[in-house]
Amino acid sequence: PNPTASTVVRSPAAILKQVFGYSEFRDGQETVINAALNGQDSLVLLPTGGGKSVCYQVPALALSGLTVVISPLISLMQDQVSQLQALGVKAAYINNSLNRDEQQQIYQQLHSGLLKLLYVAPEKVLQHEFKERLSHLNISLFAIDEAHCVSHWGHDFRPHYCRLSELKQRFADVPMMALTATADKATRFDIVQQLGLNAPYIHTGSFDRPNIRYTIEEKFKPLAQLLRYLKEQQSQSGIIYCTSRKRVDEIAEKIADAGMNAAAYHAGMSNEQRQFVQTGFARDDIQIVVATVAFGMGINKPNVRFVLHYDIPKSIESYYQETGRAGRDGLAAEAIMYFDPADIGRVRRFFEDIEDEQRRRVEEQRFNAMASFAEAQTCRRQILLNYFSEYQREPCGNCDICLNPPKSFDGTLVAQQALSCVYRAEQRFGLGYIVELLRGANTSRIRDNNHHQLSTYGIGKDHSSEFWLSILRQLIHQGLLSQDITQGSALRLTEGARAILKGQYALQMAEPRLQAKHVYQDKLA
Ligand code: ADP
Ligand code: ZN
Repeated sequence: PNPTASTVVRSPAAILKQVFGYSEFRDGQETVINAALNGQDSLVLLPTGGGKSVCYQVPALALSGLTVVISPLISLMQDQVSQLQALGVKAAYINNSLNRDEQQQIYQQLHSGLLKLLYVAPEKVLQHEFKERLSHLNISLFAIDEAHCVSHWGHDFRPHYCRLSELKQRFADVPMMALTATADKATRFDIVQQLGLNAPYIHTGSFDRPNIRYTIEEKFKPLAQLLRYLKEQQSQSGIIYCTSRKRVDEIAEKIADAGMNAAAYHAGMSNEQRQFVQTGFARDDIQIVVATVAFGMGINKPNVRFVLHYDIPKSIESYYQETGRAGRDGLAAEAIMYFDPADIGRVRRFFEDIEDEQRRRVEEQRFNAMASFAEAQTCRRQILLNYFSEYQREPCGNCDICLNPPKSFDGTLVAQQALSCVYRAEQRFGLGYIVELLRGANTSRIRDNNHHQLSTYGIGKDHSSEFWLSILRQLIHQGLLSQDITQGSALRLTEGARAILKGQYALQMAEPRLQAKHVYQDKLA
């Protein structure tokens, strides 16, 4: 790590207590803070509400110089700066909502060394003139908030975030801390690459949100289902996500017609209208917001009691982020999704229009994981956490599957058959191929690979393709198999698979429900 030009002038523990009024650091905060004090780059992955701000606000006050915080949203900057000022911290923000005079004033404060934290928009910090100014200041830390904005895959992509490595190049000795609530592995990798972080210290907190109850309900008559649900909620706060603006307007109107307090929010509305809804929701003047994914970052409302997905989201990552807006106060909250297997094909067709081939493939794979989550019959939370590489062996007890379980059977034998088949095929093949192997299909691909000679070839011919597909998916969901997205989604055994193959414990599996046949056939084709 590079030693910083700034020196440590106050102890982090004292700052936490005296300035923020907290007696203890939360999981991860202290080590991340120490990395910054030692001049090391870092990547901080904590769920929403996990306490990311303290990670850079404490070093900002512990170090002698200025901490520059890059933040994508004006409203986020304003919130944070006014909270800090209320605590007596010298903080300010600079963005295009300020006029020239106001900006000039802040520059004066900066050059007189009166500020400890400066929040700026990425496009501002990248301006040549601004970088020049920074180079005359003693900068102790760059904090990149909402760092997942560098990633093309997410909905929050901001082109300027990709250029923030310019800061790293220009200010090589200043440590950079990237923070995000994104749990997705590909995005994490992107962040380190794009920002040019140098041997970063990486802290990954637990992404579990135990107070959120996950439920997936079959979509039947969705509007009736929704109205019935909302009536039971009385006047609780909630968000309803739909995929299209048209649907958002429609549903918001229907809810309002039913006598409830609801507003629509999407990118087709004016800034003023959107601001009005966001503020009204924050103040509890508006009870329900029906929205597209545009309603997202910067919503810090603690008492959202439910998030309902009227349509299937495009990735597990989006689903997790969106449902994560429920229950930030730690009290019981619900995440509900309406699911119609036929929607899977509809969403897939959208991807066909994506021109960039690699991008299309990634989007498809991310959606496949989401689709398979929606179809799964195992603990929802287990699937989510395993997807984010947070291995969970035990079901959670607080999701629809745990609370109202589908029929299960002793799946040890079929699991062993499937796992050993993956192993014999050298962990190089995807779902469809493994199903064919298990069923002993007579295909040229199998013959070319000489796989008809394997001891596991045809070992599962007494079961249907759909059965095996469901078993393999369950093994993925239970963390016993993983899919390598960089290798054509090849199946691989995980650490947990060994115990099953050795017969060390029995594995309960859900009896495959095979009604969604067209979906399976789609995938096998
Ligand atoms: P995030 O940015 O990760 O969503 P915040 O930084 O907004 O989370 O923190 C969430 C809440 O937790 C805030 O109210 C914050 O003041 C509080 N908090 C952060 N760190 C601590 C701590 N060490 N002890 C107690 N409360 C904390
Ligand atoms: Zn569960």
